[in-house]
Amino acid sequence: MFGAVVVGLGVAGSVRIRDMLAPLPGSAAEKLTIKGFISRRSMGPQQGVEQVSVSDALNRDDISVAFVCTENEAHEETVRQFLEAGKHVCVEYPMTLNYKAAVELWDLAEKNGVILQEEHIELFTADYKWLKEKVEGQRLQEGALHFTGGSLKPRFGFLAFSGIARLTWLVELFGWLSVNKATIEEDPNNNYSKMTAHLLTKDNRSLTWIEERGPGLPRAKNINFKFDSFTLTELPPPASRGAVGLFMQDLVLFGAKLAGQVSLEELQREKRRVLHCLSLAQKIQDLCLQ
Ligand code: NAD
Repeated sequence: MFGAVVVGLGVAGSVRIRDMLAPLPGSAAEKLTIKGFISRRSMGPQQGVEQVSVSDALNRDDISVAFVCTENEAHEETVRQFLEAGKHVCVEYPMTLNYKAAVELWDLAEKNGVILQEEHIELFTADYKWLKEKVEGQRLQEGALHFTGGSLKPRFGFLAFSGIARLTWLVELFGWLSVNKATIEEDPNNNYSKMTAHLLTKDNRSLTWIEERGPGLPRAKNINFKFDSFTLTELPPPASRGAVGLFMQDLVLFGAKLAGQVSLEELQREKRRVLHCLSLAQKIQDLCLQ
C-alpha cells in the first residue's frame, strides 16, 4: 500500500480524498490509502481524515505519496519538496507555470526513482474520446478551438498554462505543434483576458487556440476542425456521466504506475507529451508578453 497526503483542500483536493476513501473496487486505485491532508489553515478532520504538517508528511515513512492540489502558483515549490524527500507525486494540471521548472522536476523524479504524474482528466472525458475517434485517420486542413469561461481565479497563472487541458487536446488530436504567433488582450479592471495562439501542425496546417475568460462567460468549448471531406463544428450533446468519475480514472492510472503496471515506454511517451505542451505554453506566454 502507498500512504498518501493531499496538499490543498479545495475542489480538486476534496475529490482526491473522497476517491481514496472509496477507490474503484478491483482497480489499482486501491493501492493508495489516505493518511492526511495539508492546509495552510488549521482545520479539524475532513471526511474523517486528519490534518498533518508539511514536515510530518515529508518525514513519515508511512507516507510515500503526495497529491498536489493547490492553486497553480504553488505547484512547483510543493512538488519539488516532496520529490526531494523521495515521495511519489501526482500534481493537478498544469504541473508548473514555466517549462524549465517542469524539466527540472522530471529530472529530480527520475534521479530519486519516484513517479511524477501530471493529472489529465480532460483525456478521460466523453468529448475528447468522441473527437479522437472522429479525427483518427483524417487529414486536417485547418482548425480552431475557442474556450470561454468565467474570470480566472487569482494564482492560477498565465492563460497558456491554466488552459493546458485544451492545448493537450490539440496535441493528442493533431500531433506535435509549433507556435507561429500569439497575442493577448487584457482588461484587468473587468477581470477579462483573451489569448490567441496561432499554432502549426507538423505538415504546416494552421490551428488557432483561443482562451477567453471574463465575468459571465459560459464555460464552453467551440470547435471548428476542417478535414478533407468534412468539418466538425460541434461537440456531441453532454453524455450521461460515466460510471467511473474522471478523477477516479486518473487515480487508477496513477495507482497502476505506482504498482509498476505501466510500461516504461508509456511513461516516457506521457512525459514527452506533458513537456511538449508545457514548452508550447511557455513559447505562447513569451510571445504574448514580448
Ligand atoms: P481551489 O481554489 O478550490 O483549491 C486550492 C486550494 O489549495 C485552496 O483551498 C487553497 O487554500 C489551497 N492551497 C494553496 N496553496 C497551498 C499550500 N501551499 N499549502 C496548502 N494548501 C494550499 O482550486 P481547485 O479548483 O481545487 O484547483 C486546484 C488545482 O487542481 C489547480 O491546479 C487546478 O488547475 C487543478 N484542477 C482542478 C479541477 C477542478 O475541477 N476543480 C480540474 C482539473 C484540475
